[in-house]
Amino acid sequence: MQTSLKDSRYYIELENKYGAHNYHPLPVVLEKGKGVFVWDVEGKKYYDFLSAYSAVNQGHSHPKIVEALVNQAQTLSLTSRAFYNNKLGTYEKKITHLLSFDKVLPMNSGAEAVETAVKIARKWSYEVKGISENSAKIIVCENNFHGRTTTIVSFSNDPDASKNYGPFTPGFVKIPYNDISALEEILKSDSENIAGFLVEPIQGEAGVYVPDEGYLKQASELCKKYNVLFIADEVQTGIARTGKLIACHHENVQPDILILGKAISGGMYPVSAVLANDEIMNVIKPGQHGSTFGGNPLACAVATAALEVVEEENLSERAEELGKLFRAEIQKVIEKTDLITKVRGKGLLNAILINDSPESETAWNLCMALKENGLLAKPTHGNIIRFAPPLVITEEQILDCVRIISETVLNFKK
Ligand code: PLP
Repeated sequence: MQTSLKDSRYYIELENKYGAHNYHPLPVVLEKGKGVFVWDVEGKKYYDFLSAYSAVNQGHSHPKIVEALVNQAQTLSLTSRAFYNNKLGTYEKKITHLLSFDKVLPMNSGAEAVETAVKIARKWSYEVKGISENSAKIIVCENNFHGRTTTIVSFSNDPDASKNYGPFTPGFVKIPYNDISALEEILKSDSENIAGFLVEPIQGEAGVYVPDEGYLKQASELCKKYNVLFIADEVQTGIARTGKLIACHHENVQPDILILGKAISGGMYPVSAVLANDEIMNVIKPGQHGSTFGGNPLACAVATAALEVVEEENLSERAEELGKLFRAEIQKVIEKTDLITKVRGKGLLNAILINDSPESETAWNLCMALKENGLLAKPTHGNIIRFAPPLVITEEQILDCVRIISETVLNFKK
């Protein structure tokens, strides 16, 4: 390995040699980001059309969030929850008021927040609903993605996520996504043993599957009817990404438990959160759940600033408006090619479907071509490409990106 020449190849070889191969990155090595742009180590500039899987909604290195991070890092970063700190309460008030919940439980990663929600739902079901010990079930959807812990992969039906990680955590029942009858059927037959229904309002990792209009509303009403918690995993869809603060708001749904991560810190720091009202959250007593880093002052200062940016810069409205424009413009491209069959999404969480099998290299090669032309995106599930730029993108920039996508697609040779 050459160590004097610090080009992309050098860093890629370094990662390949010393890091676990648990990802398959596009061969680009980034060293700088600002707003909607990132730069590689050769100085080439790209539009970031992934936003770290919808974490960097506020744009790279947002000055307000950077300032909050730097100031707090120089003051106090970690206390643990053995003591109070002067940032946690302020942040808790901010996020609960913003999303109309009584309480928040702060964690770090999205998966940890999902685990937390599962634990709260189970505890609520034994202590409030009265399910007999160790028999509570949580309904989940086929093709879900909720993270990577052992319990979470226990209810994944993606073999890559679960194969050879057993034995698995029991207590989860899978039903098809976007199928209200399947939900009703299981609730009708077994609601006395069901604690909650865990659902992504849009299935992001599965390929940006948007359920039929009314699905979330009907699902939440069914949950209410059968005294089952409606648990929304908005780790990817949350915080302005889909054109509303959370995707459930498109159908005026207030989940019983809301799971957030990624963009609540603008991608600056791992911050996740579980929100619920008192009658649910109060089942957790001191010593029954926690995390050394959860709710640390640095995370709270960053998240408070990141949430303020969402409001001050009207990111929900921008996502809603620019998302419509993006899909309409990509539809025009689709009419000129048979390489793409469909564009779908909500707000600025969108995907295109490539006219080839999931096993083919076409979507990957198209992403490579997009990279050459200055736009970074990544395939999901083989033949789907997700497009999720930072929400601070301007109309002019969106149109420039459509131009890049259009030229790349129309000149692409399989
Ligand atoms: N839930 C959803 C819906 C996600 O999309 C993700 C990550 O993509 C997670 C949970 C897990 O988040 P993390 O990677 O921060 O653990």
